[in-house]
Amino acid sequence: MAIRVNPKLIGELECYGAADVQNCYHCGNCSAACPFSKDPFVIPRKSMRQLQMGLEQRLCGTLEPWLCYYCGECSAQCPRGAEPGETMMSLRRWLTSRYDWTGLARLFYRSWKTELTALVLVSLLTLVGFLWMGFTVGGGSFNVYSGPGALFPAHTVHIIDLALAGLLVSMLASNALRMWWFTTGRDPELRPTLWMYVKNVLLLPFHFFTQARYRKCERKSPWAVHLGIFLGWVTMEMLVVLFIEVLHQEQTIWAAHAFGYVATVALLAGTGYAIVGRLRRKEAHYRHTHATDWMFLLLVAGAALTGIAQHAAYRWFGSDFTANVAYLVHMMLVVPLLAIQIPFSKLSHLAFRPLAMYLAAVHADALARQKTPELAAEALSLPA
Ligand code: SF4
Ligand code: SF4
Repeated sequence: MAIRVNPKLIGELECYGAADVQNCYHCGNCSAACPFSKDPFVIPRKSMRQLQMGLEQRLCGTLEPWLCYYCGECSAQCPRGAEPGETMMSLRRWLTSRYDWTGLARLFYRSWKTELTALVLVSLLTLVGFLWMGFTVGGGSFNVYSGPGALFPAHTVHIIDLALAGLLVSMLASNALRMWWFTTGRDPELRPTLWMYVKNVLLLPFHFFTQARYRKCERKSPWAVHLGIFLGWVTMEMLVVLFIEVLHQEQTIWAAHAFGYVATVALLAGTGYAIVGRLRRKEAHYRHTHATDWMFLLLVAGAALTGIAQHAAYRWFGSDFTANVAYLVHMMLVVPLLAIQIPFSKLSHLAFRPLAMYLAAVHADALARQKTPELAAEALSLPA
């Protein structure tokens, strides 16, 4: 099969955050230092080489950038300052834009102004939509937060939450399917069996919920921060999508609210640590910050703070008016965060990374099966 080369690939990757890729002279120090570099996935040197050679289609079908957790060890060991860790991060952004069939991820990653404009537009649409709902379906008064006559009735908000969750999960699933096709499905040589898919399937929830591989990095704090933000985020999503009507009841339901408190603390602590780290730029994985990283962190922190304000206004100070205003602002941050970041930007890695771990195990099994007849033939001195 003819291999097409894209000589402009390195230049294209610069829009996604890559820098100094040309400095690499393939000494291999980075792969020796990487805790995850193991045959058949030699990271990050192989991706650096493919990038320099402009092998766009090969890179599009690789899982390797997703197997990197950006500990920064490779960049610290690189004698040429080629920043392999940041290159892997940039490749993950680039791959996200390739999996996305709408083309929006590509637009957002290549221009922060476009992503910011989209976030503002979705935020304004949310404002208009919620006000319209409040004054038509709801009671039409900012002075009622919960129960009959509430401005934003919990039942209606619940339906909106479910519809939005369904839409976003479908979008993400379609992009994940494309990821499978690019990395596995269209490879005529790999051909994993159905059993290989079945026997590894538990790796998907395992890596999704634990991010256990990240823990293998020498420093444990980045893993703890990442896990804190992730678990806080997932818990809040579950509460909002499934239990919004319970949370809006007049009486406090401690079983539900306790989860909310723990998740909010985890979210705020995690995002606070990450924001300070990115401002100080001392740790390798915080040295380079793409505009989309800032947008994500600021939206998450804003959503957590306005969530606290809404809760405090209603539960602690009994001000329905303040609670409704805080809730409106909260939704103006949460809806764009979900609608833009899950299918088209940073949050999509919640699906792509565990999927990559799963597919990597499937690939390893398929490659081992291919090698077995060759090794057996070698031992018997027979042609494979
Ligand atoms: S990125 Fe740096 S450490 Fe890795 S092969 Fe290239 S020059 Fe060597
Ligand atoms: S950043 Fe860490 S995990 Fe990623 S390639 Fe470099 S050494 Fe490996």
